[in-house]
Amino acid sequence: MEKVFEYFDRAAALAEKGMEVISFGIGQPDFPTPEHICEAAKNAIDAGFTTYVSPPGIRELREAIAEHVSEFTGAGDVKPEEVIVLPGCKAAIFLAIASYVEPGDEVIVPDPGFPTYECVVRYAGGRPVFLPLREELDFRMTPEAVQDAITEKTKMVIVNSPHNPTGGMCTKTDIQGILEVAKEHGILVVSDEIYDHYVYDGEFTSVLVDPEWRDFVLYLNGFSKTYSMTGWRLGYIVANAKAIERLTIFAVNNFSCTASFVQKAGVAAIRGPQDFFKRVLDEYKRRREAAYRAFKSIPGVKVRKSPGAFYIFPNIKEILKQTGLTTEQFAIKMLELKGVVTPPGVPSFPLKAGEGYLRVSYALPVEKIERGAERFREGVEELLEKAF
Ligand code: PMP
Repeated sequence: MEKVFEYFDRAAALAEKGMEVISFGIGQPDFPTPEHICEAAKNAIDAGFTTYVSPPGIRELREAIAEHVSEFTGAGDVKPEEVIVLPGCKAAIFLAIASYVEPGDEVIVPDPGFPTYECVVRYAGGRPVFLPLREELDFRMTPEAVQDAITEKTKMVIVNSPHNPTGGMCTKTDIQGILEVAKEHGILVVSDEIYDHYVYDGEFTSVLVDPEWRDFVLYLNGFSKTYSMTGWRLGYIVANAKAIERLTIFAVNNFSCTASFVQKAGVAAIRGPQDFFKRVLDEYKRRREAAYRAFKSIPGVKVRKSPGAFYIFPNIKEILKQTGLTTEQFAIKMLELKGVVTPPGVPSFPLKAGEGYLRVSYALPVEKIERGAERFREGVEELLEKAF
């Protein structure tokens, strides 16, 4: 189980006892799925579109994704045959890693990182090679660090930009450099771009900018974050047509196809109005500002205004030093004392580099962000008082 879910269980137990819990642990947008998307699914069910469909996805959705990705990433000419539709980006991560990694292969993964990368690499018999993302470098994955982590066993590098849990984002130069290093060493690039729409500062760059992407890239994305569709389970991989055929064998023997009417909802999401997301992004800008300001003002907390996703990653090393607590102990105390959920960088996000940091998701209203941060401040004061 993802470690971060443990905090939800603990929080739920406290809430049951009557404590008001404010959770910065949420990894999903808090606005509802837009109505036109829900309508499309309902219409599909009413029309009897409830049977098995083509394993790599219905043509209509593969076309819509191909067009959208072509335009959004700048790739220009992604074809429907280069898309496989899957039940979530998590399924995409599983397929991309499990279909290519063999026992003994090394896979470079970001540290801290989304825990699924490590789990699936190990499941496939591979060895995760953790690449620390440094606060001083704004938690970016750099080509130099990737180059240094490569050995003759390296099979794949996993890129996640914007990044969970830090909110960091690679620059265009980083992405181009990582692609060059991968090409030079014959390494596959798996890029999880699920937060690509949540960008506040700077310019987002996709790995599909490389005109040779078909030779070595598996691009992963999904509908969960952009369209607020976490429970629908809809994601996809873009890769060369031969890779898609290979992934389809895995898919067809695992789940046959992604839910038919959910795919119709996906078509509506891509083809329908996009203006709702502009409002969402404006709201998230305000939230980021509020979270940054509130946490920055707490003594002992250092925080950067991360450019993407909906996370900041405050550094609490000074507080840990004074209280003698580990990051995990601190997060548990904060929850028990103040009802505030702030998942610890370690062990929630493998492996070591997140020690001394917390993941703060600002996917909640500004008023709650401010109240939660105020309680967090009180919690810090109480813990420091006890330490003396
Ligand atoms: N990748 C990252 C980096 C994520 O943060 C998440 C969700 N928290 C996922 C993938 C999974 O997305 P999905 O809901 O599409 O499976």
